[in-house]
Amino acid sequence: MDAEQFREHAHKMVDFIADYYKTIENFPVLSQVQPGYLRNMLPDSAPNHPESLDDIFNDVQAKILPGVTHWQSPNYFAYYPSNSSIAGFLGEMLSAGLNIVGFSWITSPAATELEMIVLDWLAKLLKLPDEFLSAGQGGGVIQGTASEAVLVVLLAARDKVLRRLGKNALEKIVVYASDQTHSAIQKACQIAGIHPENCRVIKTESSTNYALSPDILCEAIAHDVAIGLIPFFLCATVGTTSSTAVDPLLALGKIAKSNGMWFHVDAAYAGSACICPEYRQYIDGVEEADSFNMNAHKWFLTNFDCSALWVKDRTALVQSLSTNPEFLKNKASQANMVVDYKDWQIPLGRRFRLVQDWELDPFTAFMDLICSTSVKGEDLDNLCWRPAKSRGFELRGYYHSLTPDISMSFPWKLVWRTKVLPKDGKVLLMEIEILLFGGLCRIASCSVIGLDEMRDSLRDVNGDPLCIFCIVKVFHFVCNSYLTTEFLSLKLWMVLRLYGIENLQCYIRNHIKLAEHFEGLVAQDPRFEVVTPRIFSLVCFRLLPPRNDEDNGNKLNNDLLEAINSTGKIFISHTVLSGKYILRFAVGAPLTEERHVTAAWKVLQDEASVLLGRL
Ligand code: PLP
Repeated sequence: MDAEQFREHAHKMVDFIADYYKTIENFPVLSQVQPGYLRNMLPDSAPNHPESLDDIFNDVQAKILPGVTHWQSPNYFAYYPSNSSIAGFLGEMLSAGLNIVGFSWITSPAATELEMIVLDWLAKLLKLPDEFLSAGQGGGVIQGTASEAVLVVLLAARDKVLRRLGKNALEKIVVYASDQTHSAIQKACQIAGIHPENCRVIKTESSTNYALSPDILCEAIAHDVAIGLIPFFLCATVGTTSSTAVDPLLALGKIAKSNGMWFHVDAAYAGSACICPEYRQYIDGVEEADSFNMNAHKWFLTNFDCSALWVKDRTALVQSLSTNPEFLKNKASQANMVVDYKDWQIPLGRRFRLVQDWELDPFTAFMDLICSTSVKGEDLDNLCWRPAKSRGFELRGYYHSLTPDISMSFPWKLVWRTKVLPKDGKVLLMEIEILLFGGLCRIASCSVIGLDEMRDSLRDVNGDPLCIFCIVKVFHFVCNSYLTTEFLSLKLWMVLRLYGIENLQCYIRNHIKLAEHFEGLVAQDPRFEVVTPRIFSLVCFRLLPPRNDEDNGNKLNNDLLEAINSTGKIFISHTVLSGKYILRFAVGAPLTEERHVTAAWKVLQDEASVLLGRL
């Protein structure tokens, strides 16, 4: 690689992406192209000679972006979120730059060791039982996806039972899950060679909000045992894909244990919420689990892919997935001194999943703006932060205010207003609004009236420094406490370090609050109903068919979904529960604010009015 050429091209790429994020709201959220749209726009074969990066950018703009669905748009409410952050993006860049392949400890010791440490951190944050920590027999590993996570633990469980009962038992071993369990379990069963008739899909009911019933599970197990089958694997879900149902882990875990089954808990989406003490209860009972999975790439600000899996017995994974060809042998592995993650996953190769730094530029821009007007660098150190009220201005955060001891929550919105009375008694007004979401920091509005005059009157009527200093000071603190890092490292590590637990918790709470807001809007409109109780940041709702004509209810809601998504203004998805077509509104894009949710609801209402008017 020519380093200088890389520098030039990478800068252009960064500019391109920064512009994309600046204008992301201008794109239709759901791509509006038709299947096959690209074939006629691109040549039939690859070019014989190199083309310029500018030509490629032009093509991306004109031909590729129209075919992109904008998952990072603040108006994206479909499926579940797939978070990104600037930190995540930078980490991906670094990962691609280092481009290591860390399958064995020796191929990059830092990759393995940091992964173990960070997954221990995350396990502690989720208050997982100690058996999941790497100090004992267990430990965590980053898989690409939750599908891979369930597959590897299913394979480990299968081989464990077959070691005990002999290979012929393969025909008899049974997997249990609910009809709300993600289809990943079906795929895993197919790959693991589980007999198709031995994948028990337990029906759930609206009366239990689509959670798996321990009683019905017991009946199914008893029936299978009676006919000579062997229950061996149970998959429970915390936050099902359709409606965020939460299976009762404690009761299910006990059933699994008493029947000698492996118990896996899939918390791909909702696991992130469980870092908040008030949501941790939803994984109560995880002590009974043999394995647990959550997707940091869904709702934890970590760019795709990053699916965290913990097991209590790592030997089971290794026994199932280990291969040891001559060409991979090395002293550290042979001496059993190290973890080789190749034996915990399907592929051999694995990335150093690097990331995360805060976006410094908006901060710098902000500092420049302030400093260029009235503050000199050396003044900063002489200033102290005082309580907002005594300074005669107002600090409002969406969730927390900045306080004198600089507790910064995330995401947060700082609206700063001050009235300054310079010596001549003229009132100056300054309004600065800064939003920090998902690692994006931007100055939403900055209107300064009378800034020139302010420069000449650096003290307010009490002789105190102007409030502008305080703002600078706050950012100085925030910068020092949150932005200092000597070196970028693994993306999850960087997310945890640079956001900090409190900010991550606020991030989750913010989305849940926005979903609550949406739920409230739906509940106020008698034409709609909220279908299942909202627990996390997903609202399941539907448009009620006029005159209770349920025969047309599904078509009506399907038409509504199509109409909404074809506006390009928002993107939502659907599911079917108890035969009813349900609309899903999942909040979780890092840039989403209350105004986006409110505007989305208006789009929904307007389209519903049009549809209902035609009936
Ligand atoms: N499990 C649950 C509960 C999910 O919601 C999803 C995806 O939305 C998955 C598993 C599959 O996730 P992945 O794409 O990481 O395999």
